[in-house]
Amino acid sequence: MIRVFEGIEVRSSDIEGVGVFAARRFEPGERILRFDHSDPLGPDRPQRPDLGEREVYVDQIAGGVQVYLPAPGRHVNSSCDPSARVRWDDGECWAVAYRVIEPGEEITVDYVIATHGEEAQECRCGASRCRGVIPGSVFDLGDAWLREYEPLMAEWFIRENLPEYLAMCDRLGIRPRV
Ligand SMILES: [Zn+2]
Repeated sequence: MIRVFEGIEVRSSDIEGVGVFAARRFEPGERILRFDHSDPLGPDRPQRPDLGEREVYVDQIAGGVQVYLPAPGRHVNSSCDPSARVRWDDGECWAVAYRVIEPGEEITVDYVIATHGEEAQECRCGASRCRGVIPGSVFDLGDAWLREYEPLMAEWFIRENLPEYLAMCDRLGIRPRV
């Protein structure tokens, strides 16, 4: 089954289950979709596996808040060579094109960029530079990855992991952003 949204479609992916694909060309920096964080989980709103709600659709955002993601955002797969990046604009969370994305290409982000203190996961993204793993912390990446990804780290993520961030900047000789 293919579900069509504005400029994108959701269909089966070689990476994992279903994925989000470009239905038109996107230019670098262009907004693709908004991650809808309007359904936070909590004591009054537990995850409901009996209703088919899946752990993989839960995302963690600032303040340790867990949100249950609706489509299409929840179908964005991770890649070690992502076509998109996550960008926060005025409190809204967007997937924006990281490079030119042609129609038919999968929209991916690298989950590791906002990850710390998690379990490592296997990665089967198929990119030529695939690490084979999504590390449990972005700070476990090698220096070349960190140089590329530091500009993509969200400010809230940096503030919540400041000692690790500052140690990384010190090691890499990068000027801290905070
Ligand atoms: Zn990979």
